[in-house]
Amino acid sequence: MKKILTVLGARPQFIKASVVSDAIRTSQRLTEVLVHTGQHFDANMSDVFFQELGMVEPAYSLGIHGGGHGEMTGRMLAEVERVILYERPDAVLVYGDTNSTLAGALAAVKLHIPVAHVEAGLRSFNMAMPEEVNRILTDRISRWLFTPTAVASEHLRAEGVAPAAVLEVGDVMYDVALHRGARVSAEGQALGRLGLAPQSYVLTTVHRAENTDHPDRLAAIVEGLEQVAGHMTVVWPMHPRTRGVLQRSGRLDRLSPQVRLIDPLGYLDMVQLEKHAAVIATDSGGVQKEAFFYQVPCVTLRDETEWVELVESGWNRLAPPLSGAAVRDAVLRAVKSQGQVVRPYGSGNAAQLIVDHLVGDLCA
Ligand code: UDP
Repeated sequence: MKKILTVLGARPQFIKASVVSDAIRTSQRLTEVLVHTGQHFDANMSDVFFQELGMVEPAYSLGIHGGGHGEMTGRMLAEVERVILYERPDAVLVYGDTNSTLAGALAAVKLHIPVAHVEAGLRSFNMAMPEEVNRILTDRISRWLFTPTAVASEHLRAEGVAPAAVLEVGDVMYDVALHRGARVSAEGQALGRLGLAPQSYVLTTVHRAENTDHPDRLAAIVEGLEQVAGHMTVVWPMHPRTRGVLQRSGRLDRLSPQVRLIDPLGYLDMVQLEKHAAVIATDSGGVQKEAFFYQVPCVTLRDETEWVELVESGWNRLAPPLSGAAVRDAVLRAVKSQGQVVRPYGSGNAAQLIVDHLVGDLCA
């Protein structure tokens, strides 16, 4: 048995890891030790995903959150190093582009433990994004670069990564959508609880620093969504970071009551709301893709996206939040739009391919 130490800490990482952890368990060649950094810690940002997705409890919960990027990443680096020294894993597995991703990868590579990066090769080409810095550095020090799309693989090749290290397996979020999606209608109760009719509402999520940390952009999003709410219901499961910013500025109290503000949802409720939305307006990476998986038109509240194939195929359009009117028009125009038939995210077996590669290289 070879030991994989997985470092995760943020909502999308729990969702992605759920399918890979399953495949590790069934491989019977690998064991997994989960390290939860604590980056996301609220019950509805963390625990709910472990419960709903049938995940094993983390062996280590480091409880690290808050502070600046340097402080958070530094504390994670020190604590993950301690765990690695104690556990002596054969590889460290990280996901995506958060501070937990970078801290896990950096702690491992300094101890000469090979790193596997799931969702490698994504680029926004915007170095002002903390996520872009995290993903470029993590890719640079990883041995296995598991890419979700052909575009991501191309980015790595263009950066000079050895072709043998670029492993295009597809997107693990597509696996999750396929394998868990079928359960959603039965289990997700959000539609009924909120009294929403299918196709009657816009679902929105906002959490990227490029929006929450720029008052003009956040104001444009809020104003745009308030204007949309004059035409159709807007449902907004609000990320704690966004809620904090709007609360501190006093904007939360003045939010139009037509915008239905709710707490972050569990995965199954979220998927149910996604599936039946008229339009999804988001700055989330995962939610952009889920909109496509469920064939719902998407508006991305950003200047650029890593998931360019969705814009090219017409399922998604960029709406940089420069004014309320720009956001409103983009959302209303997207209603009932359709994209082309494309399959850019693999075959729904990315998790199995990842584990097959790791078993092949570690257990040979
Ligand atoms: N998600 C959720 N509840 C919510 C909002 C999002 O379960 O209230 C899920 C969503 O379905 C997707 C993932 O969280 O699977 C996306 O994570 P997030 O938007 O936090 O991060 P990103 O994908 O932008 O890295």
